[in-house]
Amino acid sequence: MKINIFWFRRDLRLEDNTALNEALSSDCPVLPVFIFDTNITEELLRDDARISFIYSTLKSINNELKKNNSSVHILTGDPVTIWKELIAMFDINIVYINKDYEPYAIQRDKSIEELLIRNNIALHRFKDQVFFEEHEILKSDHSPYTVFTPYKNKWLQKYSHEKPLKKVYIPDEYKNLYSCSFEFPDLEKTGFSKSWTKVRPFDLSAIIEYDNFRDLPYEDKTSYLSPHLRFGTVSIRTIVSQAFKLNQTFLSQLIWREFFMQILYIFPNVVTENFRSKYDGIRWINREDEFARWCQGETGYPFVDAGMRQLNETGYMHNRSRMVAAGFLCKHLLIDWRWGEAYFAEKLLDYDLSSNNGNWQWAAGTGCDATPYFRIFNPSSQQKRFDPEMKYIRKWVPDFDKNSYPKPIIDHKFARNRAIEVYKSGIKQLR
Ligand code: FAD
Repeated sequence: MKINIFWFRRDLRLEDNTALNEALSSDCPVLPVFIFDTNITEELLRDDARISFIYSTLKSINNELKKNNSSVHILTGDPVTIWKELIAMFDINIVYINKDYEPYAIQRDKSIEELLIRNNIALHRFKDQVFFEEHEILKSDHSPYTVFTPYKNKWLQKYSHEKPLKKVYIPDEYKNLYSCSFEFPDLEKTGFSKSWTKVRPFDLSAIIEYDNFRDLPYEDKTSYLSPHLRFGTVSIRTIVSQAFKLNQTFLSQLIWREFFMQILYIFPNVVTENFRSKYDGIRWINREDEFARWCQGETGYPFVDAGMRQLNETGYMHNRSRMVAAGFLCKHLLIDWRWGEAYFAEKLLDYDLSSNNGNWQWAAGTGCDATPYFRIFNPSSQQKRFDPEMKYIRKWVPDFDKNSYPKPIIDHKFARNRAIEVYKSGIKQLR
């Protein structure tokens, strides 16, 4: 029997899932598959919380599919090898995927497409994880935006035009699923163990008073959408339409996400290089002992340490603390942003290459539309402004007023002057 396959990746939901719904409206029964891609998972800890989240989400999806006499076929390995096995096992007509814009994923999908074509199988790709993708938001001369505000204006303009045309996919048609009952493997079989760190459910009520609370880490009243958008457990179209109706500031944040996604897609060199090459001459100091203290939340600056300890304990850090902690690493300690970015990538439940890279380069001053190099956050003033009663600090750094708490790793004024000098001479050297 000829079948079509829908391949789940970072779109782990049944509702409003573009490629899945396209597959379900096709002529052949649809088998959903998921692959634990060992090229990615090999680098993770055995109890990585993101794997536990993916696993439990797939389990819920599988339970839903079981009600319709179907199941997700879960596989583990190198995707090309797995696809060779699937091709040998099934008579496949079309494979449906939602696009992924990261360089590794683009390369992987290209290899899979070549393999499928050699076997007379079509690959149908769809836009799903962003509202606007690839080259959809360009300047009038067709060049990409590298500054946020004009990008955002164009995005909003295009959104107002396209909104009425938006197609909404409602998954009330599960009839076309392939009847099967693949065994749902134990987590251990995929090579992982359960994590006790949990992804928090998102809270859309945060949108209403977003402007009042979003910058105050102690209030803890942001949406917690980021891991859900990362793994596609919620549809970006649903969130954008809510944000458009209820709060423009919140909508702007979602547009930042798409901006960085587009930057990564058009300039994939940012993964390893400064967006602005004029900063290539910065002589990072890169002291490993100082990096270790930053990672552990032991810099002696309570606001920085609170953020880092929140990250280490929960896999999450408030955006304000991320900005301060990242700026501190790059500018106060003169440690290469790539070190900090890699640490966040290991720890963040919402780790997303495009947003992480874009924001790290923003904090370091090397990115597109980044903070100027001479703008250096004073961690103490940041704390006075955004945590005046030290509630956030008391929560994450209860020892901040004890003798055991470390003295500041560096004097702010000294660090500020040193950073300005090092950045300035780094820029000069290239002239
Ligand atoms: P809310 O404030 O409720 O915002 C709603 C949504 O808007 C977020 O879920 C996110 O999708 C988007 N958003 C908000 N701020 C940003 C931003 N600055 N850039 C891009 N999108 C944004 N976000 C990630 O999703 N993954 C990352 O790996 C990541 N790394 C970061 C690294 C640094 C150094 C910094 C400064 C920020 C990083 N961010 C990252 C952006 C931001 O901190 C998080 O998206 C946000 O804190 C997540 O919490 P929330 O969902 O409650 O956010």
